Amino acid sequence: MANPYPRLLAPLDLGFTTLKNRVLMGSMHTGLEDGRKHFPAMAAFYAERARGGVGLIVTGGFAPNIEGWAKPFAGTLATPAAARRHREVTDAVHAEGGKIALQILHTGRYAYQPFAVAPSRIQSPISPFTPRELSERGIERQIRAFVRCAKLARDAGYDGVEVMGSEGYFINQFLVTHTNHRQDRWGGAYANRMRLAVEIVRRIREAVGTDFILIYRLSLIDLIPGGSSWPEVIELAQAVTAAGATILNSGIGWHEARVPTIATSVPRAAFAGVTKRLRDDLRSAGLGIPVITSNRINTPETAEQVLANGSADMVSMARPFLADADFVAKAAAGRSDEINTCIACNQACLDHTFKNQLASCLVNPRAGHETTLLIRAAPAKRRFAVVGAGPAGLAAATTLAERGHEVDLYEAADQIGGQFNLARRIPGKEEFSETLRYFSRRIERTGVKLHLGQRVSGPSLLAERHDAVLLATGVTPRDPKIAGQDSPGVISYIDAILGRQPVGLRVALIGAGGIGFDVAELLVHDGAHVSPSQDLAAWQREWGVADPTLHRGGVTRAAPAPAARQVTLLQRKAGKPGAGLGKTTGWIHRAALKMKNVQMVSGVNYERIGAHDGALGLFVTHGERRTDGEVIACDTIVLCAGQVPQRELQQPLEAAGVEVHLIGGAHEAGELDAKRAIDQGTRLAAAL
Ligand code: FAD
Ligand code: NAP
Ligand code: SF4
Repeated sequence: MANPYPRLLAPLDLGFTTLKNRVLMGSMHTGLEDGRKHFPAMAAFYAERARGGVGLIVTGGFAPNIEGWAKPFAGTLATPAAARRHREVTDAVHAEGGKIALQILHTGRYAYQPFAVAPSRIQSPISPFTPRELSERGIERQIRAFVRCAKLARDAGYDGVEVMGSEGYFINQFLVTHTNHRQDRWGGAYANRMRLAVEIVRRIREAVGTDFILIYRLSLIDLIPGGSSWPEVIELAQAVTAAGATILNSGIGWHEARVPTIATSVPRAAFAGVTKRLRDDLRSAGLGIPVITSNRINTPETAEQVLANGSADMVSMARPFLADADFVAKAAAGRSDEINTCIACNQACLDHTFKNQLASCLVNPRAGHETTLLIRAAPAKRRFAVVGAGPAGLAAATTLAERGHEVDLYEAADQIGGQFNLARRIPGKEEFSETLRYFSRRIERTGVKLHLGQRVSGPSLLAERHDAVLLATGVTPRDPKIAGQDSPGVISYIDAILGRQPVGLRVALIGAGGIGFDVAELLVHDGAHVSPSQDLAAWQREWGVADPTLHRGGVTRAAPAPAARQVTLLQRKAGKPGAGLGKTTGWIHRAALKMKNVQMVSGVNYERIGAHDGALGLFVTHGERRTDGEVIACDTIVLCAGQVPQRELQQPLEAAGVEVHLIGGAHEAGELDAKRAIDQGTRLAAAL
């Protein structure tokens, strides 16, 4: 068979060692770094990815000292005893034929702990702790800690280290005047501000010798006002190369930047052009150091394309390896349609990390749980019926079949996916289609018998005499019981999303949960136009992303397209609408709607819906006394008032003595999301 991805799968010769392909598993903080007890799980996690064929793995960040901790007691590599514990990880990866580098992460002013240090005493907007300004001796101590950490990594069996110099962390904080107000030889002129980065690389290289991979993660586009200029980026790239870096990795955006960089609404490979510019400039200067591109690359096709157009020598993908440990092996075997694609939702990875939970993956609940969530062959084959091919039913049916059971999957609609067929129509959520492609293929592969267009009833199911039934029948919209809601122009979110009912120019949305936000996003974009996530130039204008060679930091004034409709988003609760959205993505949804002048109103009582000035009126009052009312004039009202479980099959089946299991929305509609649906379906199926 011809190599389907000749560039991606080509080896990379680093002189003293060769990587087997151009795929780097980028650093991700999984939480497994932060405690001795997790080392066996961390070893299994990375070993599974090494077995899946990735060229080089970079671990989650380890602090070189206490000052560098991201949070109290964060994973640290500062002693020989700690290095010995890492042997379990490096041995496991090497046993699978893989290579692994340790990331050295010093968080500086981003630290969420009281020992934070920084070039200047300037608090960051994302930590409550104000850092201590380092003395010159203090800076020297930090450099020595980096060097000690790299040496210990080598002792621990790592193939290299990655020095985290981007994303607004410690080293990056020295580079820009936004965070570096020093007047000594570590501040002021750029040669002084970049001294720390260069000293760290130079002294690590001196300490570890020439045959050890040293990746420097360079911030190419800071996405903050006052960020590095392009000549500064190039000067630093040249200096760290001369100081001994083996590979340059791309860093995109500081954590405090108000531009999304990895969310699902960011176009695929949105920043590869910036890496290309760096690579071209370095090649023009005679430097052939390999350059890695990153951010929102989640398929082998996209990765191959960025290599083909000369954007990079290697591609970093991080979350795609949570979604599928076998990404590379499947691509190499010509089975890329079997890859479980990362949909960039952040719901089980980054959102977990920010809530101090172990990272996992919405589409692959085994990620991070390799030693506990085992999909083993079933001790005895049984016949199961799974009713509903939404995320819960799909995960359960395919897992059961993989274990050797016989499975009938019934779906009332003429396609699989349940509510994911609504989600994928929202601008910026197009990636959700990938999960349905993955499950379609997995159904074929595992031999699940799929019955589309079959709304099963209790008697029809009983006649099939299965050993057990899994009800994954999902949810139906909640009836908010508002007087006048049967007026023309009042429609459900399902009709609005599917375009089954016309939507006027002035719209009120009842309910500001995840679906209310998504419907607002759909309606402010003109359905006839391509979503910004599918059009890089449009997306850049929306968020003010500029050419970093022309604009310092790569940011300029945002120029969003005008909203297609005037939308008002309402909720009864007091407080900020969208408070329940994802920890790391909620701000993006709120900012996107703000750009389109969506009015967000909290603390309302819905009194009634009725005619008003020849149009539709939503009559609301505010507060407990319900006196100060107003009427919101609109053409259409969309009900997005939550959902209730759909499980009417449960009672007749149980009454007939059938073993019934409820999963996903059928089990519990409150705070339901696809993460819980897939996790519950997978875990139940792994245990039956
Ligand atoms: P469902 O997806 O509702 O699937 C149930 C299936 O059962 C349906 O296909 C239905 O046709 C079928 N069915 C019902 N009764 C029968 C019967 N008697 N016989 C045969 N078949 C039957 N979640 C997230 O995590 N992240 C998001 O970003 C996100 N965005 C969303 C955006 C929108 C616009 C919507 C609507 C939802 C979104 N969700 C999101 C929610 C997510 O889609 C749901 O939580 C998830 O689909 C629930 O899965 P489920 O399998 O329990 O139910
Ligand atoms: P939801 O998040 O629970 O929101 C329901 C909304 O309806 C709330 O604003 C609620 O606010 C309102 N509401 C509840 N009962 C009402 C009533 N009787 N009358 C009027 N308003 C009422 O549910 P959802 O928006 O339907 O979303 C369903 C699930 O899909 C969610 O749990 C969510 O996790 C998931 N989802 C996630 C995303 C994501 O980006 N992660 C996106 C879409 C959907 P008040 O009670 O204050 O009025
Ligand atoms: Fe990707 Fe979402 Fe899984 Fe994170 S949780 S790895 S973003 S699919």
